[in-house]
Amino acid sequence: MKEPFYPSYVELSKSSFQQNISFLRDYVGEDVLFSSVIKGNAYGHGIKYFVPLAEECGIRHFSVFSSDEAREACRASTQEDTHIMIMGMINNGVIAWAIERDVSFFVFELDRLRAAVKEAKRIGKPARIHLHLETGMNRLGLDSDTFENIVQLLKENHEHLRLDGICTHYAGAESVGNYVRVQEQIERFREYTSWFEDHGIEAEHYHTACSASALNYPETIMDMVRIGIAQYGFWPNRETYMNFVKRHPDINKKHRDPLNRVISWKSEVMSTKMVPAGEFVGYGNTYLTSRDQQIATVPIGYAHGFGRNLTNVGIVLINGERAPVAGLVNMNLLTVDITDIPAVTKGDEVVIIGVQGEQEMTVASFSEMRNFMNYEVLVQIPSTLPRHIVS
Ligand SMILES: *Cc1c(COP(=O)(O)O)cnc(C)c1O
Repeated sequence: MKEPFYPSYVELSKSSFQQNISFLRDYVGEDVLFSSVIKGNAYGHGIKYFVPLAEECGIRHFSVFSSDEAREACRASTQEDTHIMIMGMINNGVIAWAIERDVSFFVFELDRLRAAVKEAKRIGKPARIHLHLETGMNRLGLDSDTFENIVQLLKENHEHLRLDGICTHYAGAESVGNYVRVQEQIERFREYTSWFEDHGIEAEHYHTACSASALNYPETIMDMVRIGIAQYGFWPNRETYMNFVKRHPDINKKHRDPLNRVISWKSEVMSTKMVPAGEFVGYGNTYLTSRDQQIATVPIGYAHGFGRNLTNVGIVLINGERAPVAGLVNMNLLTVDITDIPAVTKGDEVVIIGVQGEQEMTVASFSEMRNFMNYEVLVQIPSTLPRHIVS
């Protein structure tokens, strides 16, 4: 589906997402609240497009990093009973907005809790909060020496606060190198939550699991999960996939990845040109033709997240064949060698991420070329590009 106004576009596959969700729901358990993590513009998928798509597939809980993303998600939502949770940044000045819109947020400092109480009292409506406990990540989280104060504030202001959750986040559950650290976090979380319980504080939900911890440490699933990367069809890393397949031989037998990529990124051939042997292509002298070569220009460059370090290294798909980048990646353009691909013409589809014919460009191959994590590649797909939902 081309877009006449835009040099490239993104497609989101509804059926792939549906399959991921049913696999993940089945895995974590039907009674577990599934929060779809949509920070980073829904990992590059586009909050505006992804939220309604997820809602159509039954998702009613979304996690964002910051208040601006929460606002975007609220605007995109089409369902009355959808809930948005802010896991990170919200200024005290925006807490009133969150309370009014029923948006919940993480509390990792006494200051934020006091601000929440103050605003809730003023508005006359309880603030929905999650206590984010420090268990060993040492980034954000309530230290245990604040717990007494927290309990007191919660009790004194119980009509102004609704404790939606008690939660934490693990410091690298995707890697076996962090095994001991994660185990310690799991233990500390158990210890702290029972301390709160002993002091009369119980939350509606207990949530600690991201994709990697849910997949590698099933005991972290509890009664709610915050799943990002896996719902988009990507394993957090290869280690997690291997680990999972080993523990689930049924999946191994089918030799089929239960996660399916949702996103594709496509463009078109802008122009083609014959360049004689012995000429440089594009800026400078990084690419010298070794024979008479056909060069196609594609309107994607580093301004769109196609890194300059893919110069002479990157690959795109044209007519079902792999076309290597020839020369420097420019700000808005790249040049590819199509000499061995028959009959390429202006307007032909170019796939940057996704399938064409028998070939596939995976996000992983794209990221490994650049030594990136797939998370990082995804979020660099420009938010300004149109997204189409395809079946
Ligand atoms: C990003 C994030 C998640 C989701 O992580 P994935 O690895 O994408 O599943 C969960 N919780 C917190 C606090 C996060 O920041």
